[in-house]
Amino acid sequence: MTVDPVSTDDWLAVRNPRTGALDARIKPTSPAEVAARARRLRAAQPAWAELGVEGRIEALRAFAKACAKRRDDLVSALEADTGRLTETAMEVDAIAAMVERWARWAPDVLNPGGERTTGHAELVWRQHHAPYPLLGVISPWNSPLGLSLIDAVPALIAGCVVLIKPSEVTPRFLEPLGAALAECAPLNTVLAFVAGAAQTGEAVVAQADAVCFTGSVATGRKVAVACAQRLIPAFLELGGKDPAIVLEGADLDRAAAGIAWGGTMNAGQLCLSIERVYVEQAVADAFTERLVGEMARLRHCDADTPGGALGPVIFEPQAAVIRRHLDDARAKGARVLTGGTIEQRGGGLWCAPTVLTRVDHSMAVMTEETFGPLLPVMTVSDAAQALQLANDTIYGLSASVWGPETRAADLAARINAGAVSVNDAALTSLVQDAEKMAFGQSGLGGSRMGPGSILRFVRKKAVLLSRFQGADPWWFTGARLQAGRS
Ligand code: NAD
Repeated sequence: MTVDPVSTDDWLAVRNPRTGALDARIKPTSPAEVAARARRLRAAQPAWAELGVEGRIEALRAFAKACAKRRDDLVSALEADTGRLTETAMEVDAIAAMVERWARWAPDVLNPGGERTTGHAELVWRQHHAPYPLLGVISPWNSPLGLSLIDAVPALIAGCVVLIKPSEVTPRFLEPLGAALAECAPLNTVLAFVAGAAQTGEAVVAQADAVCFTGSVATGRKVAVACAQRLIPAFLELGGKDPAIVLEGADLDRAAAGIAWGGTMNAGQLCLSIERVYVEQAVADAFTERLVGEMARLRHCDADTPGGALGPVIFEPQAAVIRRHLDDARAKGARVLTGGTIEQRGGGLWCAPTVLTRVDHSMAVMTEETFGPLLPVMTVSDAAQALQLANDTIYGLSASVWGPETRAADLAARINAGAVSVNDAALTSLVQDAEKMAFGQSGLGGSRMGPGSILRFVRKKAVLLSRFQGADPWWFTGARLQAGRS
């Protein structure tokens, strides 16, 4: 990518979140180019479908290998995109695991089985899976590579061709990923990436037969409307405000360590970050003290801090949201026990791991998505109050409950969220076997996880065979009567 510090009509400048420098740029793919790309992909779809599940899996395995060969390039592009280190390496290494997971599951799930009988001796049927020809994928900046591939991999294995538009905020990884793809025929005829912002995203929606969108509620709503107008399915994975509940009897050291991790991985810039904590009164002080200890120990991975793990604010405007939540909480009486600052260092914006107490639901930090490493802790009288507050949200992505397992699991079952970890945090980032849907405004459409989720990418079709021998079957009676036969 050529260095150009400014956005123009033709180019979009890209900011490096560590240095603040606009040190890359992209030329957005125009709607006409998106349409041309979509046409070429569509033309390749029948041959891709003909390859069969095993053939498609082999093609994706070759792609995973090509990505592994370019691991250093992918890691450095993603580091420049996001500023974070640990999570970046994990994101790149997850490609092979993702392909292998689907290689294990897909052949069984996509196998429609043989002929099936019915209540009528002469009638049988067969199930067919007809892939949506062209899937459009639109992804956000917080996990640019992982969230571009998470739906694309199973969709390709299901027989779709896929057009991906990653976020314009973090587009550098496209260059090494595109180079890996270029060496992988036939995958490079059925998978393509386009760069750009909203206009390019709209063009992808206009071409696709189904859309997987990951991003904010506001944009998700626009994508849903555009898909509804075209009468195509929209699978939406949107924002969250995940609660953690700490019960009396919890292992407080573990709860504090786990909640600190769940609230700060990717510097809090994950849809499934823990964003609010409710703790039973009896253990509130002991838990909060431990949480503050954990959070105060965390170090940024800025140039001056050896061994630090916490990345910068990736998207500059997000810092204003975090600041607004901090200011609003302070103005309404919250107490900052550690952190509470966003510092500019080396051109990057670094938000300190923060614990707030004396918070309530009149504060934005308890109700709106913050997307930063902030943990507001609210003391509750009992589990019933914790449950009521946890469910007092427009979101419902995920949650966690910490405490004696039976009690914690019972509470987990009553939280309005698609996935609840018990005595751990964000377990869906490790375990993708279980199906989970988004509750409330956190999303729309079937689960993106679990073996069955691959069936989102096929249209189920029934082929029904009549083997009635001899005269017309009895269900032709109406036609016989109309023809004057008896
Ligand atoms: P965003 O909604 O601003 O952008 C997401 C993508 O949509 C980008 O690629 C953007 O260019 C594109 N886009 C913008 N306008 C569009 C339009 N009109 N039509 C089509 N595409 C359009 O989101 P973001 O700020 O990049 O990402 C952060 C959000 O993503 C947070 O809310 C976070 O919770 C959410 N998220 C959700 C999940 C999940 O799995 N539920 C995972 C990660 C992030």
